[in-house]
Amino acid sequence: NTEALRKKDKDHFIHPFTDFSTFNKEGSLVMADSEDIYVRDSDGKKYIDGIGGLWCVNVDYGRKEIAQAMADQALELCFYTPFGHVTTPPAAELAAKLAELAPDTLNHVFYGCGGSVANDTAVRIAHFYFNQLGKTSKKKIISRIDGYHGSTYMTMSITGVKFDHIGFDQHEDLVHNISCPNPYRRPEGMSTEAFCDHLVQELEDKILELGPDNVALFFAEPILGAGGVIVPPQGYHKRTLDVCRKYDVLYVSDEVVTAFGRLGHFFASEDEFGIVPDMITCAKGLTSGYAALGATILSDKIYDVISVPQAEGSLFTHGFTYSGHPVSCAAALKNIEILEKESICQHAKNAGDYFEEELKSLASLPIIGDVRGKRFMICLESVANKETKELFPPKAAVGDRISKRCQKRGLIVRPLAHMNVLSPPLTMSKTQIDVLVSILRESIIETTHDLKEEGY
Ligand code: PLP
Repeated sequence: NTEALRKKDKDHFIHPFTDFSTFNKEGSLVMADSEDIYVRDSDGKKYIDGIGGLWCVNVDYGRKEIAQAMADQALELCFYTPFGHVTTPPAAELAAKLAELAPDTLNHVFYGCGGSVANDTAVRIAHFYFNQLGKTSKKKIISRIDGYHGSTYMTMSITGVKFDHIGFDQHEDLVHNISCPNPYRRPEGMSTEAFCDHLVQELEDKILELGPDNVALFFAEPILGAGGVIVPPQGYHKRTLDVCRKYDVLYVSDEVVTAFGRLGHFFASEDEFGIVPDMITCAKGLTSGYAALGATILSDKIYDVISVPQAEGSLFTHGFTYSGHPVSCAAALKNIEILEKESICQHAKNAGDYFEEELKSLASLPIIGDVRGKRFMICLESVANKETKELFPPKAAVGDRISKRCQKRGLIVRPLAHMNVLSPPLTMSKTQIDVLVSILRESIIETTHDLKEEGY
């Protein structure tokens, strides 16, 4: 009974990141089942899931092998605490598998329940690491405007999306934001190369301003996701890592979205952008959304310091009841097995290039100012004026309109203010991509017409 369910939902379920004013009017769309790249609502309407759940259903829906692996594990041993000297087979197997897949020296895994916790853990690891080394003042964190790193208090602070800070303290003593590396919005008249120089210099200047002895970490998504799928300029990753190395600042690559095939690799840091960071955080595609799991993968260099008792009682007092939950780890192991067995990373390269190319062709539409991203991680930015890049006023709600038009036609696309984001399951065929692109094209054309009619 959809209506009864919608009422229970409206009365009791507090949805994350949801505007209460529209929610209270419209209520929820009840998503009821799924198969392949499709989801179906409680009225039986079928949609292409253009957002992969939320950047996470990488191997697509309805995978019986993953469900079976989880059920088997739940029956065998649903849970046991990993505290101290106890482990479970899936947690140990998965840690070894992640060490094998991650760049060279990243061989040690700390588990949590998602991306925010993985990033929170990276902060605690870094602080503990420098403390062990006697560098007790090294605590400050640098991150970018429009970077998204999570929703715990600490990761909300590290997040550079200003909207997320309204009503909260941003731990301003600890966290410092530098510019967003968005080539589309670079200062007018500046070349992309000069923009990259400027960004790298800004990071170095910020470290010097705060004092290298006080800076512990730099947080960066290889491609900024929730901030609008921003691909930094060529050379940015390597050069920012070099700056961090120069001042003994740990580099955390937040791969919560970019890992497990989204860009065609298990991890994008090294394989797409040529860097080996000190820590990689991941979640989402780790289980393809079949179970809640996140991981912080750290280097031998860090592990060797945090794991050796350097002072009496120097215990890394960090952990969660569900660190390394065996059912989640079993889901992740099966998910990775599928990614490997079906060569999904290779498919994500081929089909992802096609997806990117086809979506980039929408940049010829009159309100599309920029189509950016890579492979199965793409964003369309709408503008009122392509020359000046001027935006529509917020009340035009252009992202929302496009998403609603798509939804009517059977495609889920995520609105983000004036932008629309796509991150579908990675198994899409070219024919399915063609359908998605055609729905999106029609929806944008209709929206453009509506906006004109309304005088925007
Ligand atoms: N980091 C990035 C890059 C993300 O996109 C997200 C979520 O979208 C997170 C961290 C937070 O992950 P979670 O919502 O699983 O806590």
